[in-house]
Amino acid sequence: MKYHNTFSQLDPRLYHRQPPTPLDSPTPVHFNQNLAKKIGWSEDDDLMQNWVDIIGGAYVPKGFCPLAMAYAGHQFGQWAGQLGDGRGLLLAQVIDNTGKLQDLHLKGSGLTPYSRMGDGRAVLRSSIREYLGGHALTQLGIASSSALGIVTSKTPVQRETIESGAALIRVADCHIRLGHIEWIASFAPDLLKPFTDYMIATYFPDCLSADHPVLAFLEKVVKNTARLIADWQLIGFAHGVMNTDNLSITGSTLDFGPFGFMERFNPAWINNHSDFTGRYAYQNQPAIGHWNLNVWLPHFMRLSGISRQGLGEALAHYEPVFMQRYQTGLCDKIGLPHDEDSLGVGFDWLTLLQDCRLDYTNSFRALLALIAPDDFTFEAQLLETLNQEIENQGDKARQSWQNWQSRYQALWQKLPQEEVINRLTANNPVYILRNDMAQRAIIEAEKGDFNEVARLFELLSQPFKVQDIATNLDITPPNHDAPPLSISCSS
Ligand code: AMP
Ligand code: MG
Repeated sequence: MKYHNTFSQLDPRLYHRQPPTPLDSPTPVHFNQNLAKKIGWSEDDDLMQNWVDIIGGAYVPKGFCPLAMAYAGHQFGQWAGQLGDGRGLLLAQVIDNTGKLQDLHLKGSGLTPYSRMGDGRAVLRSSIREYLGGHALTQLGIASSSALGIVTSKTPVQRETIESGAALIRVADCHIRLGHIEWIASFAPDLLKPFTDYMIATYFPDCLSADHPVLAFLEKVVKNTARLIADWQLIGFAHGVMNTDNLSITGSTLDFGPFGFMERFNPAWINNHSDFTGRYAYQNQPAIGHWNLNVWLPHFMRLSGISRQGLGEALAHYEPVFMQRYQTGLCDKIGLPHDEDSLGVGFDWLTLLQDCRLDYTNSFRALLALIAPDDFTFEAQLLETLNQEIENQGDKARQSWQNWQSRYQALWQKLPQEEVINRLTANNPVYILRNDMAQRAIIEAEKGDFNEVARLFELLSQPFKVQDIATNLDITPPNHDAPPLSISCSS
């Protein structure tokens, strides 16, 4: 691997250097060979042979420089003070085979000075969810951390019950969170300038040639965040804990907790069991992205030449960038060009999905069978299910569905069929990580059988392609009348 450990060269107040605390008898769960290749891990026999002990925390290879980062944050809208890596360590930074900097971060590695009341550990169930969730998003083309490998162990970890301690290494293009700046502003304000220079030089070097590099950098963070959240909305991803300590400056998905993928479409879905007010409900994510940036940006006023007006102008990019990305994405998802007519039909489609509580992923994919039923037999089955579900809901639902189809048909029939099909197939996955899929893999893994983790990993590697290794359960949403699902935060 090409090591490029730059964070560890920064002011020592920003981190605490320490090795991991080993897990007892680590055993392999899964390893991501393609990612290992991408980051150069697979070129090194020592790393390949010892990956289980590395993730298990017993072996720190030469070139690694493990440290826990200090950061702060706003949690559920409240200032939470110092947080930091309470159960993770930045192991190393490397240059991948595309020339891009990547962080290797070990999660579940034991106590650090930032552990607060926690035990420094992660359990198998949440590690599997993070492993599969990050992989799913990455393969769907959404900026995300993605894990290299996962191990379980005999280390007991107390949650609601005693569970197995597990760990994973995740690879992310950056682990600097909005909360890093919040920490600096409170605890080491003299570092604001050098740390900002570091972020720009390392992650946004293009900004160095701008008239005002800091404002150009902030504008990029704003735009990247807006794009990421538009991508989440389009694919139906709900992060669940969009605290400022969980958002990276590069706009890449970080920190998988009680996340979920939308199944039956319900924009008000709250996937985090501890989110009593619905602050992080799916439909609130775009506004929360803006809220987070709005509390973050004013810290930069301490830098010379940064005015409130300049920061306001940077933040003003958020909404148009989000809207542009989301609206063009929605038109793409129904296979139509980007114009007002398509958008109107797109929004009405969402209303229909919501009113009839239809599955978000399957319904979009089923549109292929409206266009070319003979060529898309798998999708024809999805359409058949959709028809039946609407039929069961009575005349009003049937009428809305028929009206919508006529309006949709009037638009797609004007276009070359191939164009519509290409857009539909490229923008609508067949497979997402449904909660029950993850749950089935977890139940097997807790019994020591990791085959289902491996199968889901493979399935989610090509989410846009109908696959033989899939089962009906992979495309089955919860029952129509099942209450919305929420996931506990304790992981
Ligand atoms: P999260 O919202 O899961 O990203 O975590 C918020 C903060 O709590 C971060 O500082 C984490 O490092 C810390 N944390 C979460 N779980 C644990 C744990 N089991 N032990 C120590 N710290 C933890
Ligand atoms: Mg976090």
